[in-house]
Amino acid sequence: MAPRPFRLGRARTGLGLFATRPIKKRRRIAEYKGPRLNVKDAEREEARGNRYLFEVNSRWTIDGKARSNIARYFNHACRPNSDSTIRGGRVFIYTLRNIKPGEELTFDYGTDYLKNVIGKSNCRCPTCRRRKAKRARELREARKRRELRLARAKKTARKAASKTTSKSVAKTRATKRKPTSR
Ligand SMILES: [Zn+2]
Repeated sequence: MAPRPFRLGRARTGLGLFATRPIKKRRRIAEYKGPRLNVKDAEREEARGNRYLFEVNSRWTIDGKARSNIARYFNHACRPNSDSTIRGGRVFIYTLRNIKPGEELTFDYGTDYLKNVIGKSNCRCPTCRRRKAKRARELREARKRRELRLARAKKTARKAASKTTSKSVAKTRATKRKPTSR
């Protein structure tokens, strides 16, 4: 593999990998490296809170927790620009589309990881942030519409009330005036 086309940098969720030059679609950009664990050892690691376990098949899991495994810094995204593939028991990350310099490189960790580790509503990938922002905007707009409706209703109620009071004032005046007119 040629020198890495990406660098480690600050991402929204900690560290992440960012393209340093344009990368073509379907390029292998990294290998997910680490010791191979059997099912028993993988389960033990998982129980210890190791979040860098990559299941290769029903027998083997790669433990990618070592910092030397650059691929551990790929962040999850629900609509990623990269993906993983298993070839001969090794795990490679490749791009799904052309990538511009500066773009964060992501792949989909899978529904299990999203549900159990990140938490479905805690995902901060661009897709989820956009979805949440849209939802917040809709809620804000709905609240504004409700407030406007309420203000309008109040205004009409006030108008109606002032009409009845002026009428009753006129009436009282009229009744008061009556005796003096005699
Ligand atoms: Zn997401």
